Amino acid sequence: MVSPSLVMVDLAAGTFHPADVTEPQLRVDDLAPVRGDGIFEAVSVRGGVIHGFDDHMARLARSARTMDLPEPDAGLWRRAVEAAVEAHDACDEIVVRFIISRGVEATGALTAWALAGPAPEHAIAERETGVDVVLLERGYDSDAAQRAPWLLLGAKTLSYAVNMAATRYAKDHGADEVIFTSSDGAILEAPTSTVVAARGDTLLTPDPDFGILFGTTQIELFRRAPEVGLTVEYARLTEEDLLTADAVWVLSSVRLLVPVNSINGTPVKRDDDRGRTLLELLG
Ligand code: PLP
Repeated sequence: MVSPSLVMVDLAAGTFHPADVTEPQLRVDDLAPVRGDGIFEAVSVRGGVIHGFDDHMARLARSARTMDLPEPDAGLWRRAVEAAVEAHDACDEIVVRFIISRGVEATGALTAWALAGPAPEHAIAERETGVDVVLLERGYDSDAAQRAPWLLLGAKTLSYAVNMAATRYAKDHGADEVIFTSSDGAILEAPTSTVVAARGDTLLTPDPDFGILFGTTQIELFRRAPEVGLTVEYARLTEEDLLTADAVWVLSSVRLLVPVNSINGTPVKRDDDRGRTLLELLG
């Protein structure tokens, strides 16, 4: 059994120290457990390499701005993440979550930590097996992010209860995974992943302006795709676009690239050769 490793970060002092994950570290009145009031990132460390750190930091900084939190210190976080990896048992794939909470109310002191653990086995297995997906409505339209910034759409906050509830709903209804749709019929994202579809030699993904997270795995894939002759496009996709695509995947730092087998019970095409090529690009 591989146990997690923990580094507590003092943002005000710009320091961090290793800590025992089995010992209490957070006050029970911290706003992270009380209100989910904070932001985080989850980076993948494969073969000792931290993947996409700069893209994760850029997104953490965006989340911080959206949440009126101070600009995160990229250098401090890199060192803290490296320390968490260093303290972790050897493992092919490690995931490091680094978290900033608004801290204990009225103290003005943020709470922050980096927690490293092994990538879940099911996430790795799904790269081969693929997932059956149900489309579920997210309850807002594709303009909501622009109109209603207080909804924090596009920020990676600690409030994942809705996303987890949707995943449980999918499992209760015979599926493995969810893809959210907007009330005006746009494909959005999965609860912890970005949707990418192939149409001929073009990779398509929903425009992040539709109120979804800008996925760092998708960003890296789109950066590298021209190397294997693919063009890339941010688009407004519908259910029909996914059903008629040449392949559909869900992407995240933890899962990398997972093929979609079916949507609402209808099989979608799989292109495992292309999937392998894209996985190699992600490294
Ligand atoms: N969308 C949501 C809601 C997520 O939680 C995640 C995972 O963090 C993603 C997309 C994919 O992002 P990334 O590729 O940076 O892991």
